Amino acid sequence: MRIDVLTLFPEMFHGVFGASILGKARDKGIVSLNAVNFRDYANNKHNTVDDYPYGGGGGMVLKPEPLFAAVEELMPEGGQRPRVILLCPQGEPYTQKKAEELSQHDHLVFVCGHYEGYDERIRQHLVTDEISLGDYVLTGGELPAMVIIDSVVRLLPGALGNENSAVTDSFSTGLLEHPHYTRPAVFRDWEVPDVLLSGHHANVEVWRRQQSILRTLERRPELLESAELTKKERQWLDGIIKERANKE
Ligand code: SAM
Repeated sequence: MRIDVLTLFPEMFHGVFGASILGKARDKGIVSLNAVNFRDYANNKHNTVDDYPYGGGGGMVLKPEPLFAAVEELMPEGGQRPRVILLCPQGEPYTQKKAEELSQHDHLVFVCGHYEGYDERIRQHLVTDEISLGDYVLTGGELPAMVIIDSVVRLLPGALGNENSAVTDSFSTGLLEHPHYTRPAVFRDWEVPDVLLSGHHANVEVWRRQQSILRTLERRPELLESAELTKKERQWLDGIIKERANKE
């Protein structure tokens, strides 16, 4: 996969692209990661990338020319158009499902905004996706781009070692992940659940699955509506819900 980030602050990406899973994936040749300063594509004497909004008002607006020129240069001639992702608080809320979808593409281009916003023609004619990280406003699109890139690259085959498998991660299964324990078996009188010390793999799997369902029920019950549960699991869950309702 190739990932290009168009930003006014490429230096923000240097540490992130070189460390941990992203750094390793890059070293293994699984992904190429490039931060490009789109100011280099400004077509005026002072390299300006922003201008005052038509109609007046506060804040500066990113001009279309530098971003169009930068994206067009990144497109391979006659090749497939990359996904061009605009980071934007007005975009679709980011999810693991979206990460999975983006991880299927060969080339992603991220456009990081700053200032008040983008010229609307960038939204209308340049980008393929608009993504928001959440219902809050950040100073720029760099941090959201880093978050999305991390979540996509860790899904690429070979990016994670077996010890870090993404398959059971929260949301990948439609549920939150089960609790984890490690040594010591007793810490300050707090014991690890017996089943995890039993060496009985089938029982451990059942316990983990049930814990995963319970944790989802407690923290994100809305996820259970679309989670894939067996008939037996649904019945077990209904029993738990009834039992809890009776206690209240
Ligand atoms: N005036 C804009 C609005 O109300 O929608 C907010 C602009 S914000 C200060 C500057 C840039 O930060 C945005 O263009 C976007 O690239 C990025 N940004 C801010 N919050 C974000 C969020 N929740 N998700 C994704 N990008 C965000």
